[in-house]
Amino acid sequence: MSEPASEGTAPSRGVEEFQKALLERPSFSIRKRLAAGFLALFILCVAVTGAAWVMLNRLEVRLRFLEVADHYTMEIQQARRFEKNYFLYGTNLQDVQEHVASARQLLNASGAEAAKVLPERDLRQMRDHLDRYDALIGRLSEMSRNPGAPAPQEKAAVEAEIRAHGSQMVAFALDLAQKERANVHATLTLFKRLPILFLAALLVVSVFIANFLARQMLGPLTRFMDTTQRIAHGDFTPIKPARKYRDEFSNLAVALNTMMRELNHRQEVLVQSHKLQAVGNLTAGVAHELNNPLNNITLTAEMLKEDYPALSDADRLEMVEDLVSQAGRAQKIVRNLLDFARESEITTERLDVAELLRKTAGLAANQIKLSGAKIELEVPDNLPAVHGDAQSLSQVFLNLLLNALDAVGKGGRVKIAARTARAGYLEVRVQDNGHGIPPHVVPNIFDPFFTTKDKGRGTGLGLSVSLGIVRQHGGDLLLERTSERGSTFCVLLPAAQVPGEIESDRRGE
Ligand code: ADP
Repeated sequence: MSEPASEGTAPSRGVEEFQKALLERPSFSIRKRLAAGFLALFILCVAVTGAAWVMLNRLEVRLRFLEVADHYTMEIQQARRFEKNYFLYGTNLQDVQEHVASARQLLNASGAEAAKVLPERDLRQMRDHLDRYDALIGRLSEMSRNPGAPAPQEKAAVEAEIRAHGSQMVAFALDLAQKERANVHATLTLFKRLPILFLAALLVVSVFIANFLARQMLGPLTRFMDTTQRIAHGDFTPIKPARKYRDEFSNLAVALNTMMRELNHRQEVLVQSHKLQAVGNLTAGVAHELNNPLNNITLTAEMLKEDYPALSDADRLEMVEDLVSQAGRAQKIVRNLLDFARESEITTERLDVAELLRKTAGLAANQIKLSGAKIELEVPDNLPAVHGDAQSLSQVFLNLLLNALDAVGKGGRVKIAARTARAGYLEVRVQDNGHGIPPHVVPNIFDPFFTTKDKGRGTGLGLSVSLGIVRQHGGDLLLERTSERGSTFCVLLPAAQVPGEIESDRRGE
């Protein structure tokens, strides 16, 4: 458990520091994060639309080229058909040349588009094929026009080359058209997959964004819920920056820190005002208690004055000593009260609870005498110490004691018992046999300003202030039992660890 008093003092000391640290981080608001998330989704949509557009364009170019390739193949197949007619029936070769020219025209017309689809090497090869075939047909046509001139072997060689080259040219063109068809198919298949790929990517990005945003929002919300819980338990330790960036939650943290600082301040004011009220309640008793030493001082001083010459030096000395001791007693009574009423910083120290309880009972000694009640203090010797602020805890015990005295009246009994409780805790029970608390009042007794006492006798702050103090010390204050035969309040405080225990805790034993 953390040092209770450091929790008590940290808020006023550390708030400014933490406020500065909270506000000085670079800003990355939730609005910006949401915008970034939606921008990422938009970019994904743009990328997919862009990809679809590029693919469609490419498909269009390929389809157009496929048309050209089919026409081209048709033209050269036609040329070959006329070539065969020439060989079979001796028809003229002009038709062959016309179809070759058409094929060349097709190639030239689609030059730019074909360059986008085909490698330069293939295009060049197609042109070379056409040129070579055209040249061979030209030569054959010339030979046919002068039938006597060429040697028959030469003509046969040209014819054989035309056949071989023609079939190679057609095979190449068919192969190209076939490849292009396969390419178109592949692009179409990819295009069909695009919506599925897009949906998958959208799902992944959306899940990521949703997760990211949920983490960004739920993390701080959970932390804020914890903080409100701890505020409800009276812990006003300021919120520290937990992340690198400042956002809308940082403003909430700053506002909560400011609220905690105010609450802490108000609690201090309440504690102090209630303390002064308790001092007021104690004054009648204190005045009564002061009366005794003052009476004694007056009597002794008068005796000294009247009998001075008749007294021996030893008697005089004894009387003066008596005066000094009575004045000392009066001083102690006043100092005790002042000590309790003083407004002071909360300081943590190791406290002996037994001693604290005895001192508190001493502070109310006359109140006890006046009430006519009997007090019983039951404190074992081996009680562990607690870490805390003596003045605050004394105020808690005094509140419980004064309430008990109010409840019992003359002849009543109040028992204050301390003992070690469940692991690491110490409990102090204040038990009375007074009139008890009516059941319909029980839920309200810890509320600030709730009182059933007459005006001027109760402020309704005793239990609420005491609860605040005890919780600041990491403990609790409970109404354990109440009936017409009396009530028992229990204060639970964490016991201070002895150095040996701290050491074994560290070793994990
Ligand atoms: P106050 O004592 O100024 O009224 P507290 O907060 O100390 O304020 O107590 C609130 C109310 O709880 C009291 O007015 C009283 O009705 C009830 N109460 C507290 N302690 C006791 C007790 N020991 N016996 C009976 N009633 C009690």
